[in-house]
Amino acid sequence: MKKFNVGIIGATGMVGQRFSLLLDKHPWFNVVCVAASSRSAGKKLKDAVGAKWAMTEPMPEAIGELTVMDATADIEKISSMVDFVFCAVNMPKDEIKALEEAYAKAECPVVSNNSAHRGTPDVPMVVPEINPEHIEIIEAQKKRLGTKRGFIAVKSNCSLQSYVPALHPLMEKFKVTKALACTYQAISGAGKTFETFPDILDNVIPFIGGEEEKSEQEPLKIWGRIEGDKIVNATTPAITTQCLRVPVSDGHTAAVFASFEKKPTKEEILEAWKNFSGVPQELELPSAPKQFLHYFEEDNRPQAKLDRNIEGGMAVSIGRLREDTQYDYKFVCLSHNTLRGAAGGAVLMAELLAAKGYFD
Ligand code: NAP
Repeated sequence: MKKFNVGIIGATGMVGQRFSLLLDKHPWFNVVCVAASSRSAGKKLKDAVGAKWAMTEPMPEAIGELTVMDATADIEKISSMVDFVFCAVNMPKDEIKALEEAYAKAECPVVSNNSAHRGTPDVPMVVPEINPEHIEIIEAQKKRLGTKRGFIAVKSNCSLQSYVPALHPLMEKFKVTKALACTYQAISGAGKTFETFPDILDNVIPFIGGEEEKSEQEPLKIWGRIEGDKIVNATTPAITTQCLRVPVSDGHTAAVFASFEKKPTKEEILEAWKNFSGVPQELELPSAPKQFLHYFEEDNRPQAKLDRNIEGGMAVSIGRLREDTQYDYKFVCLSHNTLRGAAGGAVLMAELLAAKGYFD
């Protein structure tokens, strides 16, 4: 695989910091530029981030030396330097939509962690093990944008990255009819650490703005299908969620209940999880976990602290599968929200796009 030059838009933020760690020494991607708001522009990345560095590993030296560019004012310049950009910025939704379209129209593909374009019908929202074929809609999007190589591809929300992969291998054979998920979400999902979010200590906050809508609606796009020039959402399963913020640094846990048209046995579910693998495993993409779904037999697993980093934080952990009195089954699952749920998931999607020739 040839090496691609990439930029990180939002490099000073929580997800941006993860990108710099994941892309340092990446076999296919080489970070040549970083960008953020005008507040950070002009400074070296290491100085712009300063005490906001929230990772346990140190900032990669070469990336830290890059001068931060202005994500908005420098679009043309950045687009001329890179093959594509990763984008994770904290801005009003309409501004993010415009920013990402401006990069695409400057012929710079955008692999995005932002929610702004998740509802755009010709923008693929991809979990590479689940709906890799949705990237084919990019041709229709390029036609609409009038671009040759510029496009936007997005990652779904971090809250659903555990239960959608767990339900997916059961969809076709057993038809999930309804699912309920209560999520217990880490503070890094709000771009926070315990230092910057002291109110979360000894606390649970029962509201995360917009999260329940995303957790209920985005799975239906992921399970949707391409029809003409758009992705048409699936209409089932019916999904209901409650999303809580809990005092955990990284790792979103979900307590899940599910019912089926054809109720599987417990063994059939475990077998489906064990045997599930997708295109990233088949193509041996650099960031793909070898085993996507890990099942724990122990009653007290998965635990965020112990299990979020399995397979570099790219796998999903599941446990406590048992029959339920109201739904057919219930179980608990966990995924690392800034790795599989954000930067890692975006890097894996970019690897899929690179392998399929979308950055050539
Ligand atoms: P964050 O830590 O608050 O970082 C925000 C980034 O956006 C910073 O680099 C900031 O630059 C930049 N920014 C803010 N205003 C800007 C402007 N006007 N122009 C250009 N850049 C600007 O946020 P985050 O947690 O990394 O999240 C970033 C995005 O990823 C959000 O859309 C979020 O919803 C999404 N996301 C986050 C997670 C997660 O687990 N954290 C998961 C999935 C998706 P300055 O430092 O210069 O202000």
